[in-house]
Amino acid sequence: MVYRSRSQVIRNLPMIAGLMWRAGRWILVISIACRLMLGLVPLGIIAISRMIIDIVSAGPGAGSGPVGALIALEFGLAALGVILMRILVFADALAEERFTERTSLEIMAHASEMEEALYEDPVFHDKLERARLQATDRVVILKTFGDLLLNGAVAISLCVGLGLYSYLYVLVLLATSVPVLWVEGAMSLRWYALKTRQTPQRRYLDYLRLLASSRESSKEVKLFQLGAEIRSRYLESSRKLIEEVDREQRRRLVAGSIGIVSIAGQYGIYALVVLAAAAGKLSVGSLFFLLAAVTGSARALQEVFKAAASLADQANFLDDLAHFFELRPARPVGQMRRLDLPLKTGLEFRDVHFRYSGSDRPILNGVSFTIEPGERIALVGDNGSGKSTIIKLLLRLYEPEGGSILLNGIPLADYDPADLYRRVGVVFQDFVRYEVSFRDNIAFASLDRLDDPEALARAARSARADEVAERLPGGWNQILGRRFAGGLDLSGGEWQRVALARAYLRDAAILILDEPTAALDADTESEVFEQFAALARERLSLVVSHRFSTVRKADRILVLVDGRIAESGDHDSLMRLGGRYAHLYTLQASSYG
Ligand code: ATP
Ligand code: MG
Repeated sequence: MVYRSRSQVIRNLPMIAGLMWRAGRWILVISIACRLMLGLVPLGIIAISRMIIDIVSAGPGAGSGPVGALIALEFGLAALGVILMRILVFADALAEERFTERTSLEIMAHASEMEEALYEDPVFHDKLERARLQATDRVVILKTFGDLLLNGAVAISLCVGLGLYSYLYVLVLLATSVPVLWVEGAMSLRWYALKTRQTPQRRYLDYLRLLASSRESSKEVKLFQLGAEIRSRYLESSRKLIEEVDREQRRRLVAGSIGIVSIAGQYGIYALVVLAAAAGKLSVGSLFFLLAAVTGSARALQEVFKAAASLADQANFLDDLAHFFELRPARPVGQMRRLDLPLKTGLEFRDVHFRYSGSDRPILNGVSFTIEPGERIALVGDNGSGKSTIIKLLLRLYEPEGGSILLNGIPLADYDPADLYRRVGVVFQDFVRYEVSFRDNIAFASLDRLDDPEALARAARSARADEVAERLPGGWNQILGRRFAGGLDLSGGEWQRVALARAYLRDAAILILDEPTAALDADTESEVFEQFAALARERLSLVVSHRFSTVRKADRILVLVDGRIAESGDHDSLMRLGGRYAHLYTLQASSYG
């Protein structure tokens, strides 16, 4: 495990180096150069001191000229050390920010390339989360690399100095330090393994903390008086974690006492040096030099060990980041065709089968239907029957397990996804409430229209979102949501109108609305449907709704039952058929009495 983890670090070095290089090449060069130079300063200083001491201890006959020059030289070196240190602090602070920025940007770019399906995978989720943390929490790794380099340079240069006197010193030093390195490394890896094992529980704790203290949940938590229960569940889980940490740290405490071995080594060399000096084999200057070199190199080696262990400790985090970057969208790269407009043949689902990964339950079980351009299609079905799933498949957020989906006569997989996405206006059932300005909320659908107030106003009007803006104190510049200072929340239906306006802003060839009217008042709903009906005339459109007042106006209604399209036709013909649709419609109509 120790080996594996070390080799992980080495394997991931190119990735980290690449990130640092892209983050700021000059900073990287400067900080490496400074560290290598700084690494030589201690050796230089004690070597000069040795000369000074030897000259002085030779007796009063020694000239003060060379001593003065040597002192000046040593001062120069010490001053250089201080300056280099300051430059390093400066470079490191900048490097940290740049590294965070670069890593965050690359993580965001990569995350947005990944398929929707991957976001649902908890393993991927963990990786993404840990990768995201890398970008901010894990800048430690930069410092660790820096420490390794600096102390490595100090240790090597001082060991070379020692070796000039006797290989025995170096041998004793290494022989007593390496076991310590080994044990420390192993302990640190065990510690890491524990932290990894605890990740799911820690995520659970995070969730409980969020539940007990977030704005979203506060109403229900208060009303159901869940606070005490959440705290007790928290305590129960957290206690277990603390126990494990306690056990592991005790073990570390005991094993850590091996550190004494390396101290013993240092004192062993100490004794050898003093003996040699007593026998007259060493000058006073050399005695000073050796003692300083032994303590200095031992300390530097210790730091090297520490940095190496800490790197190994971070190896798995690094690995997550590397794996995350290595993940490629699984979708086979198709022919990257562009969509020919205007659409001629529309959309066809041909015997489409689908199930979500990690689940055995087939959701779609041979779904077949067609949508002609200009036809207004409504899709109905029970909760969980797979309506939103059909939409996700049609947008290529997932790949079907069997059957095919054709758009304009060409398999969906052959289209360039970016080109396809540009052609789609959509309101998802779980649409996003962007906590940015009202204007941005609409313009996010088509950023090139951000400065086209007319287009924005038209889209807002079609969704009756213009009325919402009129009521806002900040108008179109009002920040929505409560996350940021000055933000204002909207009602459920108001948010829905904003989402609709977003879908309408695009000059889309395909218009898809999943429950667009669920939160709308009856008046708005009917007007929204009018707008939709007009817009759908020149487009390929699909609307999912549980509101039969909306559904009945569609040109054709598809009824999804047991993973198949069970009925298809306009309102009147389906009513005559007297099947599922007729049943549901009558039920809803009768509840209005
Ligand atoms: P509703 O009317 O409630 O919106 P729907 O017809 O849109 O329902 P879908 O969202 O398509 O239903 O879900 C169909 C089934 O697939 C549900 O039973 C649900 O449990 C399952 N399902 C949906 N999303 C996922 C997912 N990401 N992973 C696993 N199963 C899912
Ligand atoms: Mg749905």
